[in-house]
Amino acid sequence: MRYSASNCGIKHTCRLAALFVALSACALAQDTVMVRSVENAAMFITESGDVIHLLGISEPTREAYSRQECTDVLKKLIQGKRVIVSRDSLCEEDEWYVFLDSQLVNVIMLQQGAAAVSRQKHSRSDEFRAAYHTAKADAVGNWSRSQATELIEAVQCEGLTRKHEQCTRMTHDPSRRCWQHKK
Ligand SMILES: [Zn+2]
Repeated sequence: MRYSASNCGIKHTCRLAALFVALSACALAQDTVMVRSVENAAMFITESGDVIHLLGISEPTREAYSRQECTDVLKKLIQGKRVIVSRDSLCEEDEWYVFLDSQLVNVIMLQQGAAAVSRQKHSRSDEFRAAYHTAKADAVGNWSRSQATELIEAVQCEGLTRKHEQCTRMTHDPSRRCWQHKK
């Protein structure tokens, strides 16, 4: 009688431990957090001070946008709002999907041309890459050509040399002058 009672106690403890493990795994896999401050195009800090990196995206190379402009896109989307952060089973990095009203913010950043895709593998890699390439092809946001500072094709510098001949250097500068003849 005594033996069976203690045996039952052990079983009960085991079951509780298993339940605890299951619960903490759940808490790690998904959580609702309040966004306190957006730090860059792929990272923010929660109200409780946790640093959240957005899975699968990174700050883009600087083209039409400045670093701050890319950050501002994420800021406008989520700062001061409640979002759901969620893990991906294929991704080993400490990175998260971020959902706002069931929309995936990571993809919105790519669609708006404010982030680049990063290399690591995850379940939605193909979708991310497609959004990134579409934004680039459509010249959206950071990829917009109208705001780009360089001419697509080089032109001959319109400056004059000391001998009053046209400079022979080629330039991508919008002033159509090389570094020496730029005013
Ligand atoms: Zn020149």
